[in-house]
Amino acid sequence: MSSAGYDPNNIFAKILRGEIPSHRVYEDDAVVAFMDVMPQSTGHTLVVPKTPSRNLLDAEPETFGRLFAAVQKVARAAQQAFDADGIVISQFNEAPAGQTVFHLHVHIVPRFEGVAPKGHAAVMEKPEVLAANAEKIRAALAGA
Ligand code: 5GP
Repeated sequence: MSSAGYDPNNIFAKILRGEIPSHRVYEDDAVVAFMDVMPQSTGHTLVVPKTPSRNLLDAEPETFGRLFAAVQKVARAAQQAFDADGIVISQFNEAPAGQTVFHLHVHIVPRFEGVAPKGHAAVMEKPEVLAANAEKIRAALAGA
């Protein structure tokens, strides 16, 4: 764990508290899932546990069961919603490893045959595109 510890004012903590908006696709008592604003591919979604930790290294192991159950649920919905050929699940720990937001989260990145992913946290997507993609995932989760 970094000596920096957990900052309760990180951007995902604010999203969890509803202080800043997000395109939510799923929520239960343990996690919230919402669209990444700088997606690496169509449907890039983040799953964030409500229990605070900086990343995987300082998290309570009890967090992971509910977190990864939700990751699987949302990944299946994203696969169906976008007819993805594959799904990358990733998670970064500390800045040298690529982490830019210091509240534990898991990336769900749909992948498509022959389509290279965009850079990590590189290009902002239009809100209307994020809203439409979130709706597709919600519909898949609802079994529509
Ligand atoms: P990390 O680099 O920490 O693994 O991933 C952080 C992710 O959060 C990046 O993919 C980045 O695009 C995304 N992100 C950064 N700021 C915001 C934000 O305000 N809202 C949302 N929904 N995603 C964000």
